[in-house]
Amino acid sequence: METNIALNIENVKKNIEQACLRSGRNPKDVTLIAVSKTKPNEMLMDAYNAGMRTFGENYVQELVSKIDTLPDDIEWHMIGHLQTNKVKYIVGKVAMIHSVDSVKLAREISKEAVKRNVTADILIEVNVALEENKFGITLENGIETVTEIAKLPGLNIRGLMTSAPYVSNPEDNRKYFRDLKQLCVDINSKNIDNIHMDVLSMGMTNDYITAVEEGATMVRVGTAIFGARNYNK
Ligand SMILES: *Cc1c(COP(=O)(O)O)cnc(C)c1O
Repeated sequence: METNIALNIENVKKNIEQACLRSGRNPKDVTLIAVSKTKPNEMLMDAYNAGMRTFGENYVQELVSKIDTLPDDIEWHMIGHLQTNKVKYIVGKVAMIHSVDSVKLAREISKEAVKRNVTADILIEVNVALEENKFGITLENGIETVTEIAKLPGLNIRGLMTSAPYVSNPEDNRKYFRDLKQLCVDINSKNIDNIHMDVLSMGMTNDYITAVEEGATMVRVGTAIFGARNYNK
């Protein structure tokens, strides 16, 4: 199957723009992250040559290898589950870690950031639908967890992230996007140690349009740009 990556990116951007217009938002407030996990460097370069500079990856080894090989002006986002023993490989190299799902992981990132004299931009991952196979804190624990993590040095909590359930009708996820947005508003209203969060990373190929309508500032789109993934290459 031939994949026209430039055209796919154009279409996704158009959909984001239209969702913004429908919901009274400025398209400039939504960042498209091209999720390139399992995809070869040539495909990332196709996206790069179409103007894409923001990529999302899930696996540390693959991410580090792509960082070392591809152009320096790419902004890398770690969006996959991160083990504490892998933190040292990415702090200082990625623009943002979206998948901070425990205080323990945040502590490890903090330690590494302090050691390297950098500030790590992080998002707190929330398991909005309480799915058993997904990582993330609960909505209920959101304020408590953010308060704990906000005490750690070397971190900048930029906002919240979620992967909503895999559904055929994206309308089914609208309530979860609203819940995440509400948690963000609630946290900001508490003025926790001057925490102000403005990033909402939500929406994937199946539901990014709905997510943008509900306030997403970052959407993570893989399949709609690069085509389906083949994990057993
Ligand atoms: C793979 C992945 C995506 C992209 O999924 P698509 O359905 O291919 O758009 C987004 N976010 C996370 C956390 C992922 O693991």
